Amino acid sequence: MTIISVIFTLLTMITSVGIYYGMFRNQVISDLKTHVHILKTTQAVLEYIEKDYDPRIDNLRITVINVDGSVEYDSNADVGIMDNHINRPEIQDVLKNGYGSSVRESGTLARNTYYYAEKFDENHILRVAKEAGNLWQFCLEILPIFLVVLGLAVLVSLIVAKVLAKSLIKPIELVAQNLENENSTETYEEIQPFIDKIHSQHKDLKKSSKMRQEFTANVSHELKTPLASISGYAELIETGMAKEGDIQHFASEIHKSANRLLSLINDIIELSQLDVMDNQLFTININLTDEVKNCVNTLKMNAEKHNITITTDVIEEDCIITANQEMIEEIIYNLCDNAIRYNKQDGHVWVSVFEKDDNIVLQVKDDGIGIAEEDLDRIFERFYRVDKARSKKTGGTGLGLAIVKHIAEQHDAKILIDSKLGEGTTISVLFEK
Ligand code: ADP
Repeated sequence: MTIISVIFTLLTMITSVGIYYGMFRNQVISDLKTHVHILKTTQAVLEYIEKDYDPRIDNLRITVINVDGSVEYDSNADVGIMDNHINRPEIQDVLKNGYGSSVRESGTLARNTYYYAEKFDENHILRVAKEAGNLWQFCLEILPIFLVVLGLAVLVSLIVAKVLAKSLIKPIELVAQNLENENSTETYEEIQPFIDKIHSQHKDLKKSSKMRQEFTANVSHELKTPLASISGYAELIETGMAKEGDIQHFASEIHKSANRLLSLINDIIELSQLDVMDNQLFTININLTDEVKNCVNTLKMNAEKHNITITTDVIEEDCIITANQEMIEEIIYNLCDNAIRYNKQDGHVWVSVFEKDDNIVLQVKDDGIGIAEEDLDRIFERFYRVDKARSKKTGGTGLGLAIVKHIAEQHDAKILIDSKLGEGTTISVLFEK
């Protein structure tokens, strides 16, 4: 603001000095012209000038010059020592046009001499001259005013800038001091979106830090159980407390726990990779129909072991989505696997792929145990299980649906869930076409 005010004060001063100096020059020449005209109307002008004119009265120097350039009379100097004036610009102009004017630097620094000349009879030219201020004098005269105005401009701009900056920054400072309380700060309209954003980001940060803490606590807890069991059985064998017949059973328990640990760790790694990979998916065009068919075929044997039938249901051919292949395989597998594991004796799983409105829908439906309404919101949380014992027994980690949700989010897909306790569950994932 200070720089701008200095620049504009300077510009104003320079242009006004320029304009007024131009006007002043024209005025002086025009005054001289008037003098010449008045003198010309005087009767017996040469006589009057030579005898009666006193140059001190109105500070004018009058010169009478012959058309050959020689000086006939000068009110301020001795004609004898004056040189020929034929080359002076104003005289040249007179010879051409009948009148002429010019401005020349005079001996003193801040002054110019202004000349106006006109022919007044066949042989004579009358020239009137006057000393008056030049541009430099204008500048000198305006300098004190300029400095005062400049000082004022700088002062006012500094004060205004400071007050403005303070009032602009104040809400931000207040928000920084009091991030917790959303409505504590008085703000102005333009900054409100920024403040809102800060508050919401702060909330998100707190939420995600809390989630991370919970996740770490859960992970430690989940890892502890199988490890403790491995350690316990191994100790029994080590100390010889296990009977010969039990050793195989203990080894199988150790194996189970180790597998559990493995699947837990795999899921945890996958989730943390998903967290890191935000927004940098490697995607290709995938035929979702083919992926579903493959997955159903793979799971068929496993399902039959548990007396569950898994089949494709509504299958529209060539449903293409742009997505990360591994992640899509993971979603289909996790949903089908859950539908098999949380099913009843002789239950069914139906998998469908179809287009609906602007979406391509992957749907996994089962007639298994279902989920109570109060649990529906929570099953996508990390480590949340409705029936912990059943989940563990069937090799669940509590992370499958969390992974599904995460992948869906990364693909801008929506998840719909519809379930009735005791009747079955339908989970649909809606991909954008
Ligand atoms: P888990 O590894 O325990 O299966 P998930 O995240 O896949 O973890 O699922 C979370 C919980 O949601 C499960 O423990 C289970 O209680 C419930 N659930 C998931 N899918 C189904 C389903 N098809 N039918 C009934 N309950 C389900």
